[in-house]
Amino acid sequence: MEISEKLAILADAAKYDASCASSGATKRDSADGRGVGSAGGAGICHSYAPDGRCISLLKILLTNRCLYDCHYCINRRSSNVRRAAFTPEEAVTLTLDFYKRNYIEGLFLSSGIIRSADHTMEQVVQVARTLREVHDFRGYIHLKTIPEASPELIEQAARYADRISINLELPSQQSLDRLAPEKNLGRTKQAMGRIRVKLDDAAERKREGDRKLRHATGQSTQVIVGADASTDADFLARSDELYRAYRLRRVYYSAFSPIPEPSSVLPPTAPPLVREHRLYQADWLMRYYGFSNSEILTPEQPNLDLHLDPKLAWALRNRQQFPLDLQTASRGEMLRVPGLGMKNVDRLLAIRRHTRVRLEDLARLRISLPKVRPFVITADHHPALEDLDGDRLVARLAPRPVQLDLFGNALP
Ligand code: SF4
Repeated sequence: MEISEKLAILADAAKYDASCASSGATKRDSADGRGVGSAGGAGICHSYAPDGRCISLLKILLTNRCLYDCHYCINRRSSNVRRAAFTPEEAVTLTLDFYKRNYIEGLFLSSGIIRSADHTMEQVVQVARTLREVHDFRGYIHLKTIPEASPELIEQAARYADRISINLELPSQQSLDRLAPEKNLGRTKQAMGRIRVKLDDAAERKREGDRKLRHATGQSTQVIVGADASTDADFLARSDELYRAYRLRRVYYSAFSPIPEPSSVLPPTAPPLVREHRLYQADWLMRYYGFSNSEILTPEQPNLDLHLDPKLAWALRNRQQFPLDLQTASRGEMLRVPGLGMKNVDRLLAIRRHTRVRLEDLARLRISLPKVRPFVITADHHPALEDLDGDRLVARLAPRPVQLDLFGNALP
């Protein structure tokens, strides 16, 4: 098979993996005239396919052959797709060719599992090792690793890559048993735990001044949303655990895309893309705004409201905590006000050191007054209690979409 034909098959097969962002990678370049490429400075520029997937890195599978039979995956053993495989040398040559033509800034390499987890991982590592050691490639490399591979191979992958990741895919073993029977949550977490120890060691050595050390700076994972009945609460609880216990940089939420010739256990349609968006917003609240997953969702309400951003939804459920006096509230309390982001909270904290905060200060910071006013007290504003009450507030802050008829009239 021609290499261009392999590329068409293996790049297409890789597009379902959304966890390829490059933020937080170590800066490395060839400005000293040695080596090829750069992982910093101008940064990695991403572009997006019409379906929203990131395609700026050379994003390929080493092979789309696979021993596993994950129902949601187009490359599963029982799928009828055309199969192809790059040799490690071909993957190296492609990366360098594309890099030199300025098509890409780095490589995102994943693979179906062939022969065994170790055999596959050896090939993946060989690509990264050859790029780094033989060609002195200094561009960005993200390697997808296989939890069942030996710890030594995963450690080698971390040495050559900027980012490594293991896809968790689904939030519980029960879901995995149904949709990805060969995958095991415990094994994945064990592998993540080992990676975390290595990442911590490497960070420590760098802090101590070991400038020559090459090592990935973070790990991430991806979960598939909407392929089964797992709730948003299930996803967020798992993400919370991964951030705390394994210090993941990111959990990527990828809305399930129906694949050609789908398995009968899959839903026939994709979930609304806004569900993916709401999960990212909720995830952001957990990582940067001090919310716990149990505050965002509860057993009675296990899914995010698709019409409301999760912070506003929380504030509406907890109206007794508002209005909040911006002159005296703590930073943590201010971060919970709908419409106030981290930067603006810090700016308001700086302003109130010198003067009393007024609505005009909020306007100057381009904070949305209609969104914030019902929740805050300023020197010149005290919302009436009824402002925080009733469905009118919801209707004003998050009007529900209305289905129109052909003539633009609202349908009942
Ligand atoms: S192991 Fe990966 S490539 Fe293989 S079927 Fe499962 S998701 Fe697809």
